[in-house]
Amino acid sequence: MPQGSASLKPIPPPPRKETDPLQPLQRLADLDLVDPGDVEGFLGVFSNVRPVHPPPAVLPCANVQPTRYSACEKPGTKACSACKLVSYCSKECQTADWKNHKTVCKNFMRSSDWQPSWVIERRTPSFMEPTDEDEKSFSNLGDLGFNGGSTLWGNMPAIDLINLSVNEADTQKDFSLAFVASGDLRHVMKTINSLPPNYSGKLDILVNDGNP
Ligand SMILES: [Zn+2]
Ligand SMILES: [Zn+2]
Repeated sequence: MPQGSASLKPIPPPPRKETDPLQPLQRLADLDLVDPGDVEGFLGVFSNVRPVHPPPAVLPCANVQPTRYSACEKPGTKACSACKLVSYCSKECQTADWKNHKTVCKNFMRSSDWQPSWVIERRTPSFMEPTDEDEKSFSNLGDLGFNGGSTLWGNMPAIDLINLSVNEADTQKDFSLAFVASGDLRHVMKTINSLPPNYSGKLDILVNDGNP
């Protein structure tokens, strides 16, 4: 991505209609996969739960210069077409922020031939056979207050739940995804980032966990 000439891609419009985030669970009950009574009880527990820090209604422009205490106040409506990780209000802001953003945009973890270290080192990944050391360091995280008692992520690699290219292969299909008891956002990110660029359907996503 050459500096300044990085092209901007418009972000898709907001969801077409307001939907109940608990709707996917209700649909499970409609399919007779679970006892409707169970779902009712389950939904009852969550009916009054609202996020402590709800997501901002409008994504701000990513042109933030922390060392200069300055930030663009306009909404970020155009995503960086190379990584789609950040969005800007204009090409000018993207150019201004390129010095900061290029370390993320060009990060080796984004390259198509990136592999986890356990693959390169030809060893069993620690999430398959945790050593005593791993167990100890993991259980100590909470004690140390590092994560405030929260689980930061799960113990398996992120998975793409839809796998559109080998499954439905319909780029306009709407999906309802329930990440039940899964506070591990990596699965959400992997699933969304694995959608083909021309996907134009709508995703209803429910994420919950004991400690979301
Ligand atoms: Zn801006
Ligand atoms: Zn980028």
